[in-house]
Amino acid sequence: MKKYSGKSVCSVVAIGKISVFKKQGMSVKRVHIDDTESEKKRFEAAKSASSEQLQAIYDKALKEVGEANAQIFDIHMMMLDDDDYNDSINNIIETQSVNAEYAVAVTADNFAEMFSNMDDSYMKARAADVRDISNRVIGNLIGALSNGSMSEDKVIICAFDLAPSETVSFDKDKVLAFVTAHGSSNSHTAILARNMNIPAVIGVGDEFLAEIKDGDEAIIDGFTGEIFVDPDAETHERLLEKQKADEHKKALLQELKGKENVTLDGHKINVFANIGSVTDIGKVLANDAGGIGLFRSEFLYLENDDYPTEEQQFAAYKKVLESMAGKKVIIRTLDIGADKKVDYFDLKPEENPALGYRAIRICLTRPEIFKTQLRALYRASVFGNLGIMFPMITSVSELKKIHSICEEVKSELRSQGVEISNKIETGVMIETPAAALISGKLAQMVDFFSVGTNDLTQYTLACDRQNPEIEQFVDTHHEAILKLIEMSAESAHKHGAWIGICGELGGDLELTEAFLRMGIDELSVSPNKVLPLREKIRSIKIKSSD
Ligand code: PEP
Ligand code: MG
Repeated sequence: MKKYSGKSVCSVVAIGKISVFKKQGMSVKRVHIDDTESEKKRFEAAKSASSEQLQAIYDKALKEVGEANAQIFDIHMMMLDDDDYNDSINNIIETQSVNAEYAVAVTADNFAEMFSNMDDSYMKARAADVRDISNRVIGNLIGALSNGSMSEDKVIICAFDLAPSETVSFDKDKVLAFVTAHGSSNSHTAILARNMNIPAVIGVGDEFLAEIKDGDEAIIDGFTGEIFVDPDAETHERLLEKQKADEHKKALLQELKGKENVTLDGHKINVFANIGSVTDIGKVLANDAGGIGLFRSEFLYLENDDYPTEEQQFAAYKKVLESMAGKKVIIRTLDIGADKKVDYFDLKPEENPALGYRAIRICLTRPEIFKTQLRALYRASVFGNLGIMFPMITSVSELKKIHSICEEVKSELRSQGVEISNKIETGVMIETPAAALISGKLAQMVDFFSVGTNDLTQYTLACDRQNPEIEQFVDTHHEAILKLIEMSAESAHKHGAWIGICGELGGDLELTEAFLRMGIDELSVSPNKVLPLREKIRSIKIKSSD
């Protein structure tokens, strides 16, 4: 087995045989011509044949990759008609009494050189375009233009590089993947491959091309950009599994997109996703989550060398809210401390950090940090559907203090003329046994609960979540934990609040039915667990048939 790697363009696994794409031999010779007028006519004829071909490629691209991506061939047609380009070719034929092929080749070299010396990256990329159209004209002049014969089976096309027009000209149903030794992942070829939904790995290097031949078995891992030629059994097995899992996920997505999360007997539940940073939004959208049930805002602090400013936080919250376009986004206020430490907080070493100075305890004793975050949150609230929740709650008095700080921040902002949404929901995390046990009181003070089962498990079972030595004692399905969740659900509903689960247990499919029976209203899980969870919900019947 040999392994190569390049830049991947599309996250798909492709398994099959290699077909090496050879460009037609179009070596251009300089030939003396007496009748330059008829040579110019030859050029005109080849140009109009090229134009017709480009129109056909444009039409094909329009159908397969849409107008925006087909536009490149419109640009090619315009380039072909460009006065400077045409004048250069006709002048070379005329003044040097040479054949049209030679004049086109020299012009292509000159224009490509000029483009690649430009600073602007868009203009630099035009070098490949001018070569592409010129090769087409030369091909028409010498009557050698075709993509070669393609085999009947789907193949992995491997080439030195591919011009956009070559990429689009392939029969999509016969291409498993493109691999090129050269090229950039932002090139039009890469963009077209992405839009044709064909995996492509670009810039693999010359060595790859020198070592492969038609018919070699290969696997393209479009997730990592790796290429395995003549893969061993273990690699084949592993990537086959990866391919199946990916196909299953895509089929699920197709099946579930836009559908409600409803049990067989009509019980509805929200399935949201957990994120730690703005960059995770792509995964949330790609997995069709109904909202964000937990944005761990402390990652903004962990990624920084100093306290993130109000502006930095505002920008991040606004981005998440806008990207979710009106879907619920629950942002958890700072949960630093315990396992999540940053130097600039100057937290003292503690005997028992999990039971120590963390989360809301820091916010309530260092209100300037808390207020900065709240200001950013309230300012961002008008850009979407915001929920704010507070971590590590153990008492009613904490919640009262939180509410009073929130009111203070809101009135300060209002007095400065800042608009704040009047639809913000406020919630607390149920992640201590104390919070679950007093949930009847807490529920009267909030709109929702979100159960943090990771910490709730640690505190209920007295098992440090950081200590691998005691993992064998961590029974995540322990009845004490389930009882505390059930108790919290009853309290929430009794007082008109809703309840979700955002800890890892929310994605445990063995417990989905139990959670539905408890009346849990929302489950928030890591983005890759959203689809399996939605599928599970649609297979459950929660009322017994008698
Ligand atoms: C939890 O404790 O379950 C939770 C969601 O919070 P974190 O894992 O960030 O502590
Ligand atoms: Mg927690």
